[in-house]
Amino acid sequence: MFKYLNYLIVFCVLLVFSGCRKSKDTVEFYQLEDSCPPIVRVLLLSEANGCEFASDGQISIYDCNESFLSGQEISDFNKATSDFSVNLTDGKISLDSNSIDSRNLLLVSQNQTIGLNGDEYRGKMVISLAQDNNSFDVMNILSLEDYLKGVVGAEMYSYWEMEALKAQAVASRTYCLYIKKRFATNRNWDMKKSQAHQVYSGIAAETKRVRSAVEQTAGEVLTYKNEAKLDIFPTYYASNCGGHTQNSVDVFGGDNIKPLNGVKCPFCKDIAKKRFFNWEPVSFKKSFVQNRLMERYPSLARLGDIQRIETVRKSDYADFTRATFIKLISSSGEGDFLRAEDFRLAIDRSGLKIKSTGFELTDANDSWVFSNGTGYGHGVGLCQCGAEHIARCGKDYKQILSYYYPDSKLVKIFKDD
Ligand SMILES: [Zn+2]
Repeated sequence: MFKYLNYLIVFCVLLVFSGCRKSKDTVEFYQLEDSCPPIVRVLLLSEANGCEFASDGQISIYDCNESFLSGQEISDFNKATSDFSVNLTDGKISLDSNSIDSRNLLLVSQNQTIGLNGDEYRGKMVISLAQDNNSFDVMNILSLEDYLKGVVGAEMYSYWEMEALKAQAVASRTYCLYIKKRFATNRNWDMKKSQAHQVYSGIAAETKRVRSAVEQTAGEVLTYKNEAKLDIFPTYYASNCGGHTQNSVDVFGGDNIKPLNGVKCPFCKDIAKKRFFNWEPVSFKKSFVQNRLMERYPSLARLGDIQRIETVRKSDYADFTRATFIKLISSSGEGDFLRAEDFRLAIDRSGLKIKSTGFELTDANDSWVFSNGTGYGHGVGLCQCGAEHIARCGKDYKQILSYYYPDSKLVKIFKDD
C-alpha cells in the first residue's frame, strides 16, 4: 500500500504551497511535498482582453516562470493597491495603466482571497499572456481541498444530507485528480470551472456544511484494481440517472472500468424534480439540427442533407431505454454514426433541453422530436439524486460510493493539513 501511495502521489501531487523564500528577491511559491494536498490550477478566464481584480488586503505581484513555481516581486507596482484592472496594451499585460514586461504574473493577496470580476476565490491568481500576445488567461491556483469547497456546493444542493455531500466530495476529488493526471501534463491549467469538467464557483459556493463534507473526507479518493495495481478512475457523476446508471463505455468510449459499468437505481425518482426525471418533449427544426451537427463534426458535411436519424443501439432497462448510438443517413443512403451523448450535446450544447439520451426520436416533417425523456445528465457513475435518497435512508458516504462505483476501493492518499 505504501508503494502504491507513492505512485499516486507522484502522478497526482504536482505542486504544494510552501511560501518559503529562496533568496532575498526570488520567491518560491510551491514545492513538491507528499504530505500536503495537491495544488489545482483552475482556468477562470480564457482568451481574455480585460478583467478586474479586487481584494480586502494588499496584493503583491510577482513576475513568475512558465511553471508558476517561483518568481520575483515587482516592487515598483503600488503594493497598497488592492483593486485594479488588467488589460492588454501593445501585446503586453498592463495593470491599470502600467505596462509590464512579463508573460506570467502571479498575484498573492495578504488576506488569502482575491476577487475576479466580482467573484471571490481562495488561493492565488496567475495571469498568463497567450503565445500570440493577443489575449491572456487567468488561472486560480489553490489547494485541492480549498478547490473542492468551491465545487461540492456548486454541484450539489448544500442543504442535502451530509453523507451525500461527502460522497460528492470524494467523487469530485477523484475526478479532479484523474483529469489532472490524464490531461493536464502539457498545459498550464488543470480544470475548467464549468460543466466541461466540474462546476467551480469559488467562495460563493461554500457553506459550513460543504466545508465540513470536504474536511471529513480529506485526502480520500476512489481507486479500482487496474491489472496488478490500484489506480484512480474518472469518477463521473450526474444529476439523476432515470432508473439505471450507464456503462461509461457506451457514453464516453474508452476502456472498460468495472466501477463504471452501471447499476440499477430505484432511488433517484423520489428525489429528482419531476420535470427533470421525466422531461417534456422537445423539438428542433431539421435545418437547425443539420447546422449544429455540421458545426460540431465538420466531416459529416460529406453526407449533405441528413434525411433520416435512427437510434441503432440502445441500453434497455426495465422502465426506459437510453440511446447509445445514432445513425445519420443522407438522401443518397450514405450513413455515419455518433455516440448518442455526443449527438445530444452537439444539438443542445447546454444539455438543458435534451436532458439525457433517455429519449425516443421521431421525425415530424420539418422537425426532430425528442420525447419520453427520462433522466438528467449522462447517467454515468454516481447518481446525485440517488445518493441523496440513500443518505436519507441512513447509509453513509462509503456505502453510497460502493453502490454507485462497485468494486472500487476508498483510499486516503494524503494526510490532513
Ligand atoms: Zn438514479
